[in-house]
Amino acid sequence: MRIEERRSLKELTTFGIGGPARYFCEAVSVEDLSEALEHCHQNNIPFFILGKGSNTLFDDRGFDGMVILNKIFHMEQKGSVVEVGAGYSFSLLGVQTARKGWSGLEFASGIPGSVGGAIYMNAGASGGETFTTLSTVTFVDVYGEVHIYPKESLKWGYRFSSFQNMKGAIAAARFELSPSEEARKKQLSIVDYRTKTQPYGAMSAGCVFRNPVPQSAGALIEKCGLKGFRIGGAEVSTLHANFLINSGGASAADILALAHHVKEVVKEKTGADLEMEVRVIPYSSP
Ligand SMILES: Cc1cc2nc3c(=O)[nH]c(=O)nc-3n(C[C@H](O)[C@H](O)[C@H](O)COP(=O)(O)OP(=O)(O)OC[C@H]3O[C@@H](n4cnc5c(N)ncnc54)[C@H](O)[C@@H]3O)c2cc1C
Repeated sequence: MRIEERRSLKELTTFGIGGPARYFCEAVSVEDLSEALEHCHQNNIPFFILGKGSNTLFDDRGFDGMVILNKIFHMEQKGSVVEVGAGYSFSLLGVQTARKGWSGLEFASGIPGSVGGAIYMNAGASGGETFTTLSTVTFVDVYGEVHIYPKESLKWGYRFSSFQNMKGAIAAARFELSPSEEARKKQLSIVDYRTKTQPYGAMSAGCVFRNPVPQSAGALIEKCGLKGFRIGGAEVSTLHANFLINSGGASAADILALAHHVKEVVKEKTGADLEMEVRVIPYSSP
């Protein structure tokens, strides 16, 4: 496996922000993932597993360790069972399965992440969540050992999975879907709703804050009159207030300053505490 040095990260995230990774490699197989993780462990190199970078804000200085880009792309469906690599597009998986009349992942269409990132985040939309139709997850630990976890052995919550507390990488997953004649129609209406309500073409990482359930972070931010508010190149979307966008040349510092301002104003005016959903990755561990 080839290890690059000083690889720019901004092209690998939907925010289009981030300095270089000190080391960088791509894993196209479970073996590659094992080798990369073992290498980091043996050489005491901090690592970060990157999917499609659609929920990640890297530091302007980059990452002082190894970024391992997951490019395990296989996908096979036999009846209701889907076996898929963690680097596969979660959105494409939602479209392909719905098109064939399988229900359970319609909500994934339009979520611009990888299958691994969706499992790690337990991504969700339109009432659907990733863990619901998940059956097993293939995971590689820091020693390069491969484990297969049934979903029942893991914890799941709102944008939470046990993987957020585990060191290693998701390599692949199995989903079990149900037949439905309505699947394609449902999936198309989800995409339609998304494109009308979210700034789809803009550089963003989707919703920046978790919803302080039962309230909606977007509605609170909008209520505070913050739509369109800017700091540097970072802007609160005028379409969906929980999307902070890179409107051109934004730095990570701009996004963080804007997020901080939004949090303060929302706290002051509504009393609600907003928490980041986007993963903010420091240059080095404290
Ligand atoms: C326009 C837009 C719309 C969005 N809409 C939604 C939405 O409706 N619902 C929603 O939940 N999210 C949404 N998101 C956020 C994002 O797409 C999801 O969180 C997605 O699941 C992240 O996947 P990713 O591959 O891009 O993860 P990344 O950003 O690459 O990584 C996110 C986290 O997951 C970890 N990770 C990624 N892959 C692996 C792996 N293989 N093994 C272990 N850890 C891994 C990373 O280390 C990191 O901590 C949206 C984002 C955008 C830009």
